Amino acid sequence: MCGIVGYLGKRNATPIVIEGLKRLEYRGYDSAGLAIIDTEGDLKVFREEGKIIDLERIMPAPEKSFGNTGIGHTRWATHGEPTVANAHPHICCRNQIAVVHNGIIENYKLLKKKLISEGHIFVSDTDSEVLAHLIGYFYEAEHDLVTAVKEALKLVEGTYGIAVICSDNPDLIVAARKGSPLILGIGNDEFFITSDVSAIIIHTKKVIYLHDDEVVSVTKENFEITNIDNEVVKAKISEIDWEVSSIEKGDFKHFMLKEIFEQPTSVENAFRGRLDHKLSTVKLGGLNMTPDEFRNIEKIQIIACGTSWHSALIGKYVIESLARISVEVEYASEFRYKNPIIPPGTIVIVVSQSGETADTLAALREARTRGVKVFGITNVIGSSIARETDGGVYIHAGTEIGVASTKAFTSQVTVLTLLGVLLGRMKHLAPTYGKKFLEELKMIPNKISEILENNHYIRNIADTIKSSTNALYLGRGFNYPVALEGALKLKEISYIHAEGYPAAEMKHGPIALIDKNMPVIAIALKDEIYDKIISNLAEVKARNGRIITIATRGDDSVQDFSENVIYIPETIDVLQPLLSVVPLQLLAYHVADLRELNVDQPRNLAKSVTVE
Ligand code: GLU
Repeated sequence: MCGIVGYLGKRNATPIVIEGLKRLEYRGYDSAGLAIIDTEGDLKVFREEGKIIDLERIMPAPEKSFGNTGIGHTRWATHGEPTVANAHPHICCRNQIAVVHNGIIENYKLLKKKLISEGHIFVSDTDSEVLAHLIGYFYEAEHDLVTAVKEALKLVEGTYGIAVICSDNPDLIVAARKGSPLILGIGNDEFFITSDVSAIIIHTKKVIYLHDDEVVSVTKENFEITNIDNEVVKAKISEIDWEVSSIEKGDFKHFMLKEIFEQPTSVENAFRGRLDHKLSTVKLGGLNMTPDEFRNIEKIQIIACGTSWHSALIGKYVIESLARISVEVEYASEFRYKNPIIPPGTIVIVVSQSGETADTLAALREARTRGVKVFGITNVIGSSIARETDGGVYIHAGTEIGVASTKAFTSQVTVLTLLGVLLGRMKHLAPTYGKKFLEELKMIPNKISEILENNHYIRNIADTIKSSTNALYLGRGFNYPVALEGALKLKEISYIHAEGYPAAEMKHGPIALIDKNMPVIAIALKDEIYDKIISNLAEVKARNGRIITIATRGDDSVQDFSENVIYIPETIDVLQPLLSVVPLQLLAYHVADLRELNVDQPRNLAKSVTVE
């Protein structure tokens, strides 16, 4: 789930592993640890609750933690509390083998019971510790670490990215993956293992993305990748094409703020090269579909989790409106277990920023086993979802470090909107509409920049609601999912309870909550349903609710009932979400910052949820 960093080379592994773990802090974690094999050939393990800085505090001076081979981990607890005993690396009974693990070992109870009956002594509540004992068990018999790892993994059910070292083999790291990302970094006479390239990009841009069931053994001189059945795998070396600066904050106080401000560019990157001005339509070549295949789509199911689920819901509104194809939006965690009905003529689209979201990946696999074509919308090139789908579209948002997604959301929405236009133009949308859409879309980056100029004004509004305990977000039509997303942003980073609702639905329940203390954030833009939402807001006002309105520039009438108005530029209805969400992101950011919270790493949350 969280972070793995390993180093093997001529340098001291400890500072490299620690620095790498710091680069992974953004993913959210609750404890950390590292193991090295020191110059005497002894295995040294350090673990601490809390942050990397807490781990550094308990570490001996650099010369006392010197070793050329090391592995480290940031843990996001799934089994057992975030304590020192549960932190990784876990070690075998003989104190020889250390293992870091991302993921979940589903059959750990059974394995643990067997190992205990063989005399193994467990010291943690984690599922991961069984790996250390199981590998230790096979190592005793085989005296070969690679074989021991493979034998152990054959008995394991669940997901893992692991890195293993053994004091008998100071010049060796063995790493493997199944369902949890793992990457080999190739430097000059040195190698790195990581679950996320951000950890190693300052050292090398040459990487190999491991596939499921692959095991890599790395020595100072070389590496070999084999699969679990011992066949040698010929791996492809990829070059990372982004710079270290993209994972640094620069002048911004937080990554989230930086990423909100990157949206004029990231949205443009999502549509760049995909507009066909000649035919007034859109090209999405990665879908690998012929025009006839597009025209034969009768139904679309979009599967996602969290913020991606909200972008999927916007996708539904857009595709249904422009292409008149019925779209169902499902939570991946529900889809995968509910025996879904997928009628003929359906395509499935999975949306995930990381491309590794465990539930989404499982839903994808479930859909594919039913013979349906599945397409992916992801940010991370080479991710599991990108690899396992029949085709897809990258959103090209760049690395997103803030746990609360912002730029990935607007890029997903951009891509889904492009898809709506593409499908619409394949069927019945007039070229004049296509032309108008392309013109409007090209203006969106500048319009986002204009909204960002209100940053200070929005911070002042945030100051007035920062002590609230609840907030209600209202929107209708294309902006209803935006209301959901605005509420989620506030919840995630400020810990204020917030709900998003379709505005008219409010009177079927949440209206009971409205009083003078309840901020109501309403998206009331000048569109076909403007009058309807204004009536809903009158109902709020009549109950003394405090209304903050996101309104179309020039609409003075909303001033009458609003405590504050945030004006945004006008655009066509399908593109409104790309603008209306921006002030909500800023509002949530400033509330959390004014409450002095850890904006980029909110409690209990992880950036990419690779466990169920
Ligand atoms: N399931 C493991 C644990 O709870 C690994 C968690 C992680 O991926 O960080 O220790």
